[in-house]
Amino acid sequence: MPIEISPIGHINTPYKEKFAIPRQPGLVTAAMGQIIFAQGFNSADFIRGIEQFSHLWLVFQFHQTANKSTSPLVRPPRLGGNEKVGVFASRSTHRPNNIGISAVKFEEVILVNSQTRIVVSGMDLLDNTPIIDIKPYIPYSDSIPHAEAGYGQTKPQETLAVIFSQNAREQLAIYQQQHPRLDTLIEQILSQDPRPAYHKTKTTDRLYGVALYDLNIQWRVLQNTCVVEQISRLQD
Ligand code: SAH
Repeated sequence: MPIEISPIGHINTPYKEKFAIPRQPGLVTAAMGQIIFAQGFNSADFIRGIEQFSHLWLVFQFHQTANKSTSPLVRPPRLGGNEKVGVFASRSTHRPNNIGISAVKFEEVILVNSQTRIVVSGMDLLDNTPIIDIKPYIPYSDSIPHAEAGYGQTKPQETLAVIFSQNAREQLAIYQQQHPRLDTLIEQILSQDPRPAYHKTKTTDRLYGVALYDLNIQWRVLQNTCVVEQISRLQD
């Protein structure tokens, strides 16, 4: 029988497109997000006691891939994008029911226009992702130190050093007034080398761009160093 689910809210994050979002939570700790509750869920009672927990599980919908068909086999990026595994042996976004889970850091509860919001960090979620549920992270049960995870055992290695051109540094000084820690956010994201696997083997000075907040961040990769060339406002 189909199950009907209504989101309890959505999350605002700096990530305006899927490109360059980290592939799991906790990799880009400088990314801050706000959970905004839907009508009916914005009473402070729903989150009473939540400050006791340093981390929360977010259960959400991969809304941007929700209408795509799914297949039993997927190609995890950790396997270079060529080898296939079963979708239930993966954390792929293309899965039946399109449900994702992420353990994120709880930062604080804030009040905006007399509505309660939860600030979290380190999430791997697109802006406006629908949130289905929130649960406290319980270390004694959720953390399994000696668990084995095959192809996903270790954190992806940071492969790129990130530097800012003179031009980008000047732009950063302006935009950082509105977005504190923008420099760290950009460094953490780009050091993961978000280029598609098949670009990484080629040497090209191609200019890449990614939308973060209302900004377009443009960079090149030159000899394992990522050079941020330009930071500008996105055109509407
Ligand atoms: N931690 C989650 C997500 C892993 S996949 C889980 O294991 O279930 C993470 C990727 O999902 C990100 O790199 C981004 O490309 C993609 N993503 C994030 N939010 C999304 C959304 N709302 N819709 C579709 N894809 C999304």
